[in-house]
Amino acid sequence: MRTERDYYEILGISRSATQAEVQRAFRSLAKRYHPDHNPGDPRAAQRFKEIREAYEVLSNPERRRRYDHASAPPRQATIARDLVQDLSISLEDAFHGAARRMAVIRRITCGFCRGTGGGTCPSCRGLGVSVRLWRWEREACRRCGGRGWLPGTCHACAGRGLREEVQVLWVRIPAGVDTGSRIRLSGMGDVPAPGASPGDLYLRVRVQAHPRFYRSGRDLSCWVDVSPVRAALGGRVWVPTMLGTRAVRIPPGTRSGTAIRLEGMGMPDLRSGQRGVQWVFLRLSRRDVEGLGPLELGWLRLHGWSREALLTLAS
Ligand SMILES: [Zn+2]
Ligand SMILES: [Zn+2]
Repeated sequence: MRTERDYYEILGISRSATQAEVQRAFRSLAKRYHPDHNPGDPRAAQRFKEIREAYEVLSNPERRRRYDHASAPPRQATIARDLVQDLSISLEDAFHGAARRMAVIRRITCGFCRGTGGGTCPSCRGLGVSVRLWRWEREACRRCGGRGWLPGTCHACAGRGLREEVQVLWVRIPAGVDTGSRIRLSGMGDVPAPGASPGDLYLRVRVQAHPRFYRSGRDLSCWVDVSPVRAALGGRVWVPTMLGTRAVRIPPGTRSGTAIRLEGMGMPDLRSGQRGVQWVFLRLSRRDVEGLGPLELGWLRLHGWSREALLTLAS
């Protein structure tokens, strides 16, 4: 007859116990429950039978292997858990790429108990035996069954085998990321079960709005104010770009709203690194034209520009 109880449980050993541990556990239990030591105790006799049966199976490597196979508890699902964290960056960081230090709270296998959740048995201090001084007899520790170890006693993880840890990471942000880009850090996610491999960490990028530039994919655009004199007579206009201020030539009589295309001054492509276009929209305000002083008006008149003609360029 096969007992219902688990053989490992009967011998008080872990499923990974060595043959020597099986022997040791059997010897100490057999001594305690042997019918010769417990005459007329049917419970001890039953217990002894179970112990012997468990030992016969577990001491034989081939039978033990078959038993393990048949009795293995359903394996815990070890689906790696991915973590997602938001990452807000400036347009400058998205343009140049950046390294960012960030803290992540992730679940890891407890290092104190190596994920077992257990710890040294406090009753026998891990020796597995207790000594009864009055009888001068060594016997397997009753609390831990001679293993010297008790499940669920790890203080670091409260016996769960998993711990939450704050990890500080350096993250490389590649040039060209945009809002909605995901940066994958493999193996930096949660550990779903003790000893299992961790999932990945995904950083969900959000690029902050820029006070000067509007971004659309790889293209950037911005507005630049032009003075009435510059719009009328043409010449150099200073334009902001992601690589610093650049001088751009505009022709005489430039209208407000004229767009200048700066090739290669847009955002880099995430893969190729090739930069898009920057559009510069020039703005000549009516207020500036109306506010022109007599000196500037005189100078403009010399070049054939009246205030009324200038107002047709303004917006
Ligand atoms: Zn632990
Ligand atoms: Zn113990």
